Amino acid sequence: MAFTLPNLPYDFNALEPHIDARTMEIHHGKHHNAYVTNLNNAIAGTDAEKLSIEEICKNISKYPVAVRNNGGGHYNHSLFWTVMSPKGGSPSGALADAINAAFGSLDEMKAKFNAAAGGRFGSGWAWLIKDASGKLVITSTPNQDNPLMDIAEVKGTPILGLDVWEHAYYLNYQNRRPDYAAAFWNVVNWNEVAKRFGA
Ligand code: MN
Repeated sequence: MAFTLPNLPYDFNALEPHIDARTMEIHHGKHHNAYVTNLNNAIAGTDAEKLSIEEICKNISKYPVAVRNNGGGHYNHSLFWTVMSPKGGSPSGALADAINAAFGSLDEMKAKFNAAAGGRFGSGWAWLIKDASGKLVITSTPNQDNPLMDIAEVKGTPILGLDVWEHAYYLNYQNRRPDYAAAFWNVVNWNEVAKRFGA
């Protein structure tokens, strides 16, 4: 069973002006699509074809680097599209309580997340994760690594992620990654983040 490119849950222009339509179109249709194609090629004829992308990530040290890069790319982007929405809003309920418990306030969490996004040298991702004890933690990973991977420095279940590769923002923001990270908060799908937190 080959992996497939998931449909975007909204139109390319749905996140404007925070993320522009052309960036979304290229990011989903070219970049994510290439990760899916290259992942399928890398696992063709192997036992990994029977596994979920989460199972592959959790044992990523057993696989060639092409599976790490493209499997991570597929998992990360599949999550990324769903944790964004044109609706915006703010967290509530158990998720809001957990954010306050871990960081003091939503603003403090955002500041720490933005610092992780801005401080990641080169290409990578900023993450809000739930660790093994259920606590919320901010971390970042290089390239297409993610906190599910057994090689990650800080491990946990991602509930929110921000792509800080230049391909995610360069057309609209050029070198202004902090502006892109700040704008991201206008399009976070907190219902999806809460669903992942509760899972
Ligand atoms: Mn990307």
